[in-house]
Amino acid sequence: MGCPGAGKGTQSAKLQDKFHLKHISTGDVLRAEIASGSALGQEIAGIINKGNLVPDELMISILENIVKSTDKGIIFDGFPRTVAQAEALDAMMKRLGREITEVVMIDLPESEVVSRITSRRQCRKCGEILHVTPGTPANKCPVCGGELYTRPDDTAERVKHRLEVYHTETLPVKSYYQNSGKYVEIKGNQTPEKVFEDIVSVLKKVK
Ligand code: AMP
Repeated sequence: MGCPGAGKGTQSAKLQDKFHLKHISTGDVLRAEIASGSALGQEIAGIINKGNLVPDELMISILENIVKSTDKGIIFDGFPRTVAQAEALDAMMKRLGREITEVVMIDLPESEVVSRITSRRQCRKCGEILHVTPGTPANKCPVCGGELYTRPDDTAERVKHRLEVYHTETLPVKSYYQNSGKYVEIKGNQTPEKVFEDIVSVLKKVK
């Protein structure tokens, strides 16, 4: 968990590599549906580009199909984002004989969110996420040479709205998990390496 720009995608990719997990980023899944050009994708684009959340029922059904397709341990990135999703995830895990072992919140001060998000670029080819210095052109991915792009929902105006949505819809999920004994908070305003080290140190159950 974490607000927009907290580093969920970056840290999930690192965790996937280290622990051979299946990384499910619901944002990436939705962006892939948009890229496919389907009618559903067009509908989703309208929602995401405004900075709103995709309806719970749709998210849950998309997610269940992916979860069923793997036996690996899973890292959920950007899900659940509402209490209804958290409840549906619990029910799904129970049905599938699985268990949520840890809930990691990457806590980033809001004063850092807008600058982080507006400097964010992502590679269309390999999905690498990086941050550019404002005013510096950066067109090519340093990892694979693919084209870098700015997500349409990463403008300053959209980020402010996404933060409002985060407060009203997603922060209640924190309280939902806080009483479960599985919830841990990590400071997000550190280097990605230090954030990763801190996360690994609390993931006792996957080690
Ligand atoms: P992300 O890549 O995690 O920042 O997600 C980008 C956008 O995708 C969000 O701002 C939402 O519009 C949508 N989205 C991603 N995950 C979810 C989710 N679990 N529930 C609803 N909408 C989501």
